[in-house]
Amino acid sequence: MFLRSSNDGKIWSDWYETILFYKNNQTRYGEILFFPASSRYVQIKAVADEHDPQEITIQKININIFPEIKTPLAEKIIKSIANKFKVIQALAQTAATDIKIISRAEWNANEDWRFCASWDSAKNTCGTKSPDPKWPPQIHPVKKFVIHHTAGSNTANADPKELIRNIYLWHAIVIEGGWGDIGYNYIIDQQGNIYEGRFGGDGAQAGHTFNGPYCKRIGTAGLDATPCGVSKGDVEIGYQMNAGTVGIAVLGNFNTEIANEKVKAAIAKLINLKSQTAQINLNDTADWSVPIKVKSPDGMEPGIVESAVRDSGMLLTGKNLSFDFDFTDPINPLAVVHGLPTIISHRDVDRTSCPGDNFYPQLEEIRRLAINPTTEYEAKFESSTLPAAMYVSKADSGEIKIRNTGSRSWLKADVDLRIFDNGRKPSLFKDGPWNDPAGRFFFEQTEVKPQELATFKVPLMAPQYAGMYKHEFALFKTADNSEIFGSAFDREMRVDETHQGEFISSSLRAAVKTVWRPTMKLTFKNTGFATWSKNTVLEIYDPSGAPGAFKTKTQSGYTAAKLGATVKSGENAIFTTKLTPPKNPGIYKQIFKLKDGNKEIWLGRPEVSIMTRVDK
Ligand SMILES: [Zn+2]
Repeated sequence: MFLRSSNDGKIWSDWYETILFYKNNQTRYGEILFFPASSRYVQIKAVADEHDPQEITIQKININIFPEIKTPLAEKIIKSIANKFKVIQALAQTAATDIKIISRAEWNANEDWRFCASWDSAKNTCGTKSPDPKWPPQIHPVKKFVIHHTAGSNTANADPKELIRNIYLWHAIVIEGGWGDIGYNYIIDQQGNIYEGRFGGDGAQAGHTFNGPYCKRIGTAGLDATPCGVSKGDVEIGYQMNAGTVGIAVLGNFNTEIANEKVKAAIAKLINLKSQTAQINLNDTADWSVPIKVKSPDGMEPGIVESAVRDSGMLLTGKNLSFDFDFTDPINPLAVVHGLPTIISHRDVDRTSCPGDNFYPQLEEIRRLAINPTTEYEAKFESSTLPAAMYVSKADSGEIKIRNTGSRSWLKADVDLRIFDNGRKPSLFKDGPWNDPAGRFFFEQTEVKPQELATFKVPLMAPQYAGMYKHEFALFKTADNSEIFGSAFDREMRVDETHQGEFISSSLRAAVKTVWRPTMKLTFKNTGFATWSKNTVLEIYDPSGAPGAFKTKTQSGYTAAKLGATVKSGENAIFTTKLTPPKNPGIYKQIFKLKDGNKEIWLGRPEVSIMTRVDK
């Protein structure tokens, strides 16, 4: 196979051969080819050489396009291939844009274990490696999904990567002398992170569900997993449940825990993506061809076998299945099983409690979510007109807009907005009209449909102390007090004093002489809310707390100057005073304070001061 690329569909690059790097039965895998990011067109050609058979049919071309390019282009490529080749089925597989799958390399899978011929238990490492993988990947078209839990103890506080490495070790090295790899195709942790499992990519047969034969004896009810004997009428049905299934295991024990929203959303998104790739309709039931063996010394008529298995009715726990039989190849007859859902759980097809008593009833929800992976309740913060700063004990308000990114319409009493202080503590901004300490505001609209914006009007009352406050906002389902996925956001809010100022400048020189009588002009800006009255005074202090050493003509105590005019918020206030420097030369620090009546104007920290050298 050769590929070439073009930006405009007219001028083409050279042809690049897709070097074969892996072969499995009928399937060949090429090396990754790199084309410039500006490429918009790709052509593919297949060339037969003299060793190939006369007639070649291309069964299927899988094109894996890595992240930059999205699905529409892949579809275009498929269409153009379909015109030129005899393509029976073409699948495009694009790396998911919103799903991150943590690769084996990222969870530090030791790839030597897949080639391990003998385990050195003293060193806890692979002793001898074989050149071939112990369990070479066999690829089957993906048809359905089997959900598991990993059981064991509570895993909430464990490192998920380490847990996965342990499962890998258990499956690859320990169980039955080691399978040679991990048995799950994907693993999902409690945070909804998705990890690559079994080596070989999609369709690689894993080992997560019982694969052995069940025995059916004519005239007896049901099946058992004991091997069939040779007595007349034994029918052995091999359930190849791992071939063509994607085994997804969730880290956790759902006999004791409940699957959280993140876990459910991750499973649903993963299945949705893989079902698109494999062109499976998740609403359909799945058909399976399973090998059957007739264990009878004198053989059996196909018709008898068929009715025998049909009569057994329930083959899989709780699932009413029907069968057809295919004796086209009399040596390897097949039973075609109809009626399995495309998403099942381990206990549907095996004697196990997996994936747990709490999780099993959630399977219908998983199926629904996988068909439409947008969760029913999901939201995203859009914008806010909340004030960035408020004055102490002063009321203000703002509007918050939150988008309904879920699949369900919100009615007024369905969801409410709650406001918390940092760390989900009760808010210090609670105002009179709040419904409770967390606010619990309902949106203004009567209904907010999916993708629409909900508007919340939020009244606030600033606390009585100035400072920076972190707020946490989140939407909740009112009925069960559960937080809506994706809705949480934070805001920092500054709370200022009403009487607040900022030092702007001083006209006093850095050095003065003892005999001088300099005039000092000090400028402050009113950065508070309140207007400063004309009686506002400038006070000067020594570091000791005593009245400043620079006495003024009019100074009594600390007071050095009076404002004499009102100064509104945002305006500058100028204090002018004539100073008498101290008699003794030296370096003096003057600390300034402003007071409007009994109210000290907050000038921030550290205190406002200037250093002045006094020379003889
Ligand atoms: Zn299981």
